[in-house]
Amino acid sequence: MAEVAEKEKELIIEQMVQVAEDAPEPGGVTKGQVLMEEDGSKTDVSTVESAGWTWVYDKDTGDQSKCNMNMLRAQLRKVGKDGKPQFTTVDPGFRPVKGDCLCMLHPGAENYEKYHKMGFPTCMKANIANEMEVEEHMRKKHKATWNIIEKQKEKEEREADRELQREMIASIAGKAKPAEE
Ligand SMILES: [Zn+2]
Repeated sequence: MAEVAEKEKELIIEQMVQVAEDAPEPGGVTKGQVLMEEDGSKTDVSTVESAGWTWVYDKDTGDQSKCNMNMLRAQLRKVGKDGKPQFTTVDPGFRPVKGDCLCMLHPGAENYEKYHKMGFPTCMKANIANEMEVEEHMRKKHKATWNIIEKQKEKEEREADRELQREMIASIAGKAKPAEE
């Protein structure tokens, strides 16, 4: 049974590949540049440029993104939480609500310089609806990076807590001291 389902899935993928619409080459990309894909994978543009690009859509959000033809089948094989393919080449006819929040790894983001120095990747996502969605995007698309950021935040919070405790103890100790004559 599983094999039949697998074959059926491949057939559907092939159908989606057949109807895929051409998308323009990503703008501003130079040969040899390595593109950070939204899912965290990297595409070396110099090796894939000739394959062409196509549009893929997230079936839940309607989010339209460019996918290199070399990676299209892999993209279409990805399944969502419901176990069904998450992406399609058939436009579902709606789009996510667009915002203007930047991914934390966007060059225009607040801590970009710091993150860049830490060796984090750059992400050009700049249409996130709100701060909560930014976190969700970080959690989903930059999992490893997000873990590091979270850990660091926890550490900073712990240190701030300790500092506060020290200040409180010092202040109590100060008050407890007998008044100097
Ligand atoms: Zn991002």
